[in-house]
Amino acid sequence: MSERGLEQLWAGWRHEYVVSATDAERRGNSDGCVFCRIVESGPPSPDNGMVWRGELSAVVLNAYPYASGHVLVMPVRHVRDLGELTPEESVDMWEASRQAVATLRAAYEPDGINMGANLGRAAGAGIPEHLHLHVLPRWSGDTNFMTAVSGVRVMPEPLVVGWERLHGAWPQA
Ligand SMILES: [Zn+2]
Repeated sequence: MSERGLEQLWAGWRHEYVVSATDAERRGNSDGCVFCRIVESGPPSPDNGMVWRGELSAVVLNAYPYASGHVLVMPVRHVRDLGELTPEESVDMWEASRQAVATLRAAYEPDGINMGANLGRAAGAGIPEHLHLHVLPRWSGDTNFMTAVSGVRVMPEPLVVGWERLHGAWPQA
């Protein structure tokens, strides 16, 4: 991946939910947290965009995806940093990430997968107060395409289509 391609890929994540994030930060608690609202909104559905929810962690479609199938793995608890996770939450989040990767492979057959976290706003986190890990499928040449056609975005599939695809492919516990 070219440096410019990488920059574009990560830069996009900074803009997700920026308005809500700023709002939540001002209040300094989880009341205004969009991720808390999602995980507390009931079982996974196309409406809340949750693909899977466990007791300790959840997988949510990114509302502003960089690619079809771009999901966020997060703890259910409102936690800012990796170090605040309990050992149980760490294990559960990692297992959810493992399943997310397997599900993306089954549902999209990508050439590769990006996983990553932006810890803190300076690192590019749109919602720094609620820890989340990005997992997204990649295809050979997709970065080249974005770089070549500057300012033009590859339009991912509608979120509801992604939800149906991923929810249907998620391994049953
Ligand atoms: Zn939260």
